[in-house]
Amino acid sequence: MRDWKNPLLRSRMARFRGCLLLTLGIVCIGLLAGLGQEDVQTTTADSKPLQGLTVALDPGHGGYDGGAKAHDSGKWEKEINLQIALVVEKELAARGATVVLTRREDICLSEGDTATKQRKRADLQSRVDMAKAAGADVFLSIHLNEYRSRAESGPQVFYQRGGEDGRLLAGVLQAALIEGLNPPKQRKAMAGDYYVLRSAIPSALVECGFLSNAAEEKLLLSPAYQQKIALSLADGLEEYVALLRRRGQGTQEQIQ
Ligand SMILES: [Zn+2]
Repeated sequence: MRDWKNPLLRSRMARFRGCLLLTLGIVCIGLLAGLGQEDVQTTTADSKPLQGLTVALDPGHGGYDGGAKAHDSGKWEKEINLQIALVVEKELAARGATVVLTRREDICLSEGDTATKQRKRADLQSRVDMAKAAGADVFLSIHLNEYRSRAESGPQVFYQRGGEDGRLLAGVLQAALIEGLNPPKQRKAMAGDYYVLRSAIPSALVECGFLSNAAEEKLLLSPAYQQKIALSLADGLEEYVALLRRRGQGTQEQIQ
C-alpha cells in the first residue's frame, strides 16, 4: 500500500500530474494548430476555384463596328462591352482563371477601310483564332442587346445550336446572371447561330442587358452593376467547372 501521506511522494505525484497536463496541453495546441493549418489550406484552394481554367473573353465589336447605340447616353455598345470585359477579367483572374482578352482597345481585328461582310467575318475569325491559340477551355463573348420596343430588358445568354457543352455553359451563366442581377424580366438561355460560337471550344454569347431600355442602360453604364455582372459570370463559370467535374470529363484534369 502506498503511503500518500509521504510529502516526498506527494510532491513527485504533483510534478508527474503537472508534466502530464503540460504534455496534454502541447498535444492539444498542436492538434488545433494542425486543424488551423488545414483550414487555411482549404480556404486557399477554395479562393482559386477557377485555377486551371483558361477563359477567352471577347468584348464584342470594336473599331468601325460600334454595335448597338445606347438610346439615352449615345454610347456605343463596343465601349461598354470592353468596360464590362475588363471587370470580368479581374474577377476571373482573382478566382484563379487564366484570362485572354481578344481586344483591350477600341479596335477591329481585321484590316480594311470599310465595313464589309468579309471584314466582319475576318474580325470574328481572329477572335476565335486567339481563343484557339490560347488553348481556351471556354469562350465568352460580351455584348449588349437592343430592340425597337424600349420595354424589353434582361440579360440573355446564347449558345450554338447542337453544342452540348455550350448549352450547359449558357444555362449556368443565365442562371447566375438572374441570381446575381435579379432582373425584372427573367429570360432563358437560347440557341442561336453566331459565328464566334461555332468553334469546338465551349462558347457562350452573353447579352448583358438592353441598351434600348432606359433603366437598364443606366445600370449597364454603372461600375457597380458591371461588377455584379462580373461576379455573376464568375459564379456561373464556377458552377460550370463543378458540373464538368461531376460529369467526369471536359476540363476536369486541367483543373485538378
Ligand atoms: Zn453586340
